[in-house]
Amino acid sequence: MSDQSFFDAGTLVAVLTAQPIDRLLDYKAPEGGCMTGAFVEVPLGPRKVIGVVWGRGRGGFDLKKARSVIRVLDVAPMRGEMREFLTRAAEYTMTPLSMMLRLATRAPGLGDAPAMRKVFRLGSGAPDRETDARRRVLKVLSDYSGLSFTLGELAEQAGVSSSVVKGLVKQGVVREEDSPRDLPYPPLDPDYNGVDLTPDQATAAEVLRDGVASGTYGTTLLKGVTGSGKTEVYLEAVAECLRKGRQALVLLPEIALTSEFLKRVEDRFGACAGEWHSGVTMTERRRLWKMAGEGNVGLVVGARSALFLPFRDLGLVVVDEEHDTSYKQEEGVLYNARDMVVLRASLCSAQVVLASATPSLETWANAQAGKYRRVELTSRFGAAQMPDMRAIDLRAEDIPPSRWISPSLRDAVAARVALGEQSLLFINRRGYAPTTVCRACGHQIGCDHCDARMVEHRFQKRLMCHQCGETKPMPDKCPSCEAEGRLAPVGPGVERLDEEVRALFPDARVAVLSSDLFGSARALKEKIEEIAAGACDIIIGTQMVAKGHNFPLLTLVGVIDADLGLQGSDLRAAERTFQLMRQVAGRAGRVEKKGLALLQTTQPEHPVIRAILSGDEEAFWQAEAREREAAGVPPYGRMAGIILSSENAAEVFDFATELARRDGPLRQVSAQVFGPAPAPIARIRGRHRVRLLVKAAKGVPLQGALKAWVGQLRVPNSVRLAIDIDPQSF
Ligand code: ADP
Ligand code: ZN
Repeated sequence: MSDQSFFDAGTLVAVLTAQPIDRLLDYKAPEGGCMTGAFVEVPLGPRKVIGVVWGRGRGGFDLKKARSVIRVLDVAPMRGEMREFLTRAAEYTMTPLSMMLRLATRAPGLGDAPAMRKVFRLGSGAPDRETDARRRVLKVLSDYSGLSFTLGELAEQAGVSSSVVKGLVKQGVVREEDSPRDLPYPPLDPDYNGVDLTPDQATAAEVLRDGVASGTYGTTLLKGVTGSGKTEVYLEAVAECLRKGRQALVLLPEIALTSEFLKRVEDRFGACAGEWHSGVTMTERRRLWKMAGEGNVGLVVGARSALFLPFRDLGLVVVDEEHDTSYKQEEGVLYNARDMVVLRASLCSAQVVLASATPSLETWANAQAGKYRRVELTSRFGAAQMPDMRAIDLRAEDIPPSRWISPSLRDAVAARVALGEQSLLFINRRGYAPTTVCRACGHQIGCDHCDARMVEHRFQKRLMCHQCGETKPMPDKCPSCEAEGRLAPVGPGVERLDEEVRALFPDARVAVLSSDLFGSARALKEKIEEIAAGACDIIIGTQMVAKGHNFPLLTLVGVIDADLGLQGSDLRAAERTFQLMRQVAGRAGRVEKKGLALLQTTQPEHPVIRAILSGDEEAFWQAEAREREAAGVPPYGRMAGIILSSENAAEVFDFATELARRDGPLRQVSAQVFGPAPAPIARIRGRHRVRLLVKAAKGVPLQGALKAWVGQLRVPNSVRLAIDIDPQSF
């Protein structure tokens, strides 16, 4: 697909649009002609839509009836390797190509001409009167000095009305300037400010640097405990990529991590990187999209969707915390960003670095098999050491009802508080209590639309469904037996633990970190900075805290319920628990002092808990690998999930049963179908969901067989069918 044919005005071209149409559409090339890959505006019914010239038109109809391309947009044409990537990704995920194009064109106002606009920057002097609102505006401008804001964007970021900004402009404290819409990003200097690497780090960095310098494709697993300097090491690979004049992309699993990371990039390279995620303003997204295509941004830091940016010359992609489940997109186009990155890199001769303290079994197995290189950092940087890890056997502890902190854990926290050190209590449950039960009749309050219990959020005084987000006020009486005042919370959530901690440690400063308690990424970031600076003694957190934040004063981690992830039949449960517990424990003792991690468990003899405590990772992975291999599941076999949903439970079950019965096309490649069974989430937003699981040997051309199989039956209009290649749970 590297052909760059030119089409003269009036000849037929095939255009791919991001509309839900599963084929290319023919148009006449516009005046002046157009190239393959050109972004164009075309008429579609009464509308004008954006598309990409995919190749020569097929014709076969009256040429006079063909409509013309309206105009060629003033953006870099889509490169051949990008078209190839979208095509292959569409085939792999069994998604229409138009849907892939939609992922690749998520930049608003692509077709707009570059224009001047007003932007706001820091001026000079101080305001006549300091107010909170004014301070916030100035803080946004100084924190994001590399970005340009329109009036609306600045006001929104600072959480103030636009009159506050205008007032500051009048006083000259904020300057208003005319600026072209799409400014190139300032160049990064690879040698601006490096650190002296330890010998271990230097060896690892050299492997990555050599990879980038080779200008070919290759994937490297960069494994190292938290705090071992993985980031420092892969920033060396980024530096090498910049030296070669190619572009680099760093994917992070969580938006909340980006600002801390961008600051680090600025320290290292002397300028800001491009930032890409759902929290970035529309103007900035459009700018980044265009600059990526023109080669005018050297480094992009972002969420998984950044891998679809139209880089002109991508030389390196880093997937940080590569095992993180948020890299799998579970709605719309179902794809795993880590796997798509490897595909994209292989098509554009780029290097991939998969960084993790606890790699996914897939990546571990690929490294074992020699498909990926593997470099390892075995010790923490400086004096910091991995924490000691111990179990607290809950069977031997005396805990009052509706309390979750054992006496042993309480004493450990108290000792830290007395020393002025921080403790983190980890519980992987948002809200106050996971269940609300009527003590008169035993009824549990469930969601009206999903197969899920409503979770009490006392902070917001509401019940919430964590599946569909539906909320309702906490009722006074039982919805089933109407008894009054008998509804009671059952089980712990992060808010309830907060209550217990405050009762146990009335004088300690306590902070709760849960994604739903912060209105904005900014508020969360400020809280994290405060905590890192020592503004609290006890942190209570959900899964969010396991990911990458640095709390230098933290010396104790207490896991309230280490058994939580081991329940259920998910074959990945062991891997998940192992990763999560190791990540959480890794928060402790990041600076000089050795940390301690205490895991509350009722089954300290469970093999997974034992592996976590002993820290013998290779043994754990080898055992996991043997189990998966015996079961013939990924990464030792292939799998696909077919999720069928409908408002009518019987209809969807019957359809799935019929589909499962006609398994001829699957049997031709020796694939087996299991089910139908209720999907992992059996009902969402009123739709009943069932799943068929297809299992095949490694190397089987599964997609083709699936297509033939599913194609046998017409899917009723009321039934939705989604194919999930490599499902996360099985
Ligand atoms: P990881 O990504 O493995 O968690 P980081 O790269 O974030 O580790 O390193 C942990 C901390 O140690 C960071 O504050 C980092 O700046 C510091 N650090 C790591 N290696 C070095 C080094 N060679 N010289 C100075 N500081 C280092
Ligand atoms: Zn619901």
